[in-house]
Amino acid sequence: MSQPTKLVLIGPPGVGKGTQAMLLETRLHAVPLSSGAIFRSEIEQGTELGLLAKDYIEKGQLVPDDVTIAMMSRRLRQDDVSQNGFILDGFPRTVKQAESLDTILLELGFPIDAVVQLIVEDEVVVERLAGRLTCPKCGATFHLKNCPPKVEGICDRCGTELMMRADDHPDAIRRRLVEFREKTAPVVGYYASRGILRPVDADRSPEEVYSEIVRGIRV
Ligand code: AMP
Repeated sequence: MSQPTKLVLIGPPGVGKGTQAMLLETRLHAVPLSSGAIFRSEIEQGTELGLLAKDYIEKGQLVPDDVTIAMMSRRLRQDDVSQNGFILDGFPRTVKQAESLDTILLELGFPIDAVVQLIVEDEVVVERLAGRLTCPKCGATFHLKNCPPKVEGICDRCGTELMMRADDHPDAIRRRLVEFREKTAPVVGYYASRGILRPVDADRSPEEVYSEIVRGIRV
């Protein structure tokens, strides 16, 4: 059997990381790990971690590194990840997180195969996020105009009622873009210097972006 794939998806909010993680999961059978989705589930359950993260997330700010790293370190150590590999979506978002991820993976003995950098202009992101509808259960995303669900307000995949995320409003979107430029863009350089970065133009249909990713990572 071939080795499990270990991928990182990196790019600004709204670039399509979650959509690509779902498409890649079908092909690679690796575990999609979205730090944002884990935080939202903790908030929903009212846990201590959720309470801590809620304010940061609603304002569009990054949750502090120590909290995020501890949460992802726990998740990466679970058996399904070592058996099937992972598709990280939204982590790492700072150089400190990237360094910690290296340390964790060194301990676990499975290095990253490739880091896919999804690229779009800010205007595209703002347009996409402002009309985005998200399924709170399975994480699928739709768009009021560009990609409406078959039945209004209902997820095509699992039938759950769709919602708009609390951080998909103009102020939080702007803050998230600033956070991306200031804190996450340096992570791209961190991986480029190692020769594992695969830049992909993400201002295209999800299927076209997916095909280019698959070509770039040769899986
Ligand atoms: P996402 O679903 O990836 O857009 O993440 C939603 C929000 O969760 C972000 O705007 C941050 O507030 C928080 N978040 C997700 N991942 C991280 C991370 N790796 N580091 C810090 N905050 C994060």
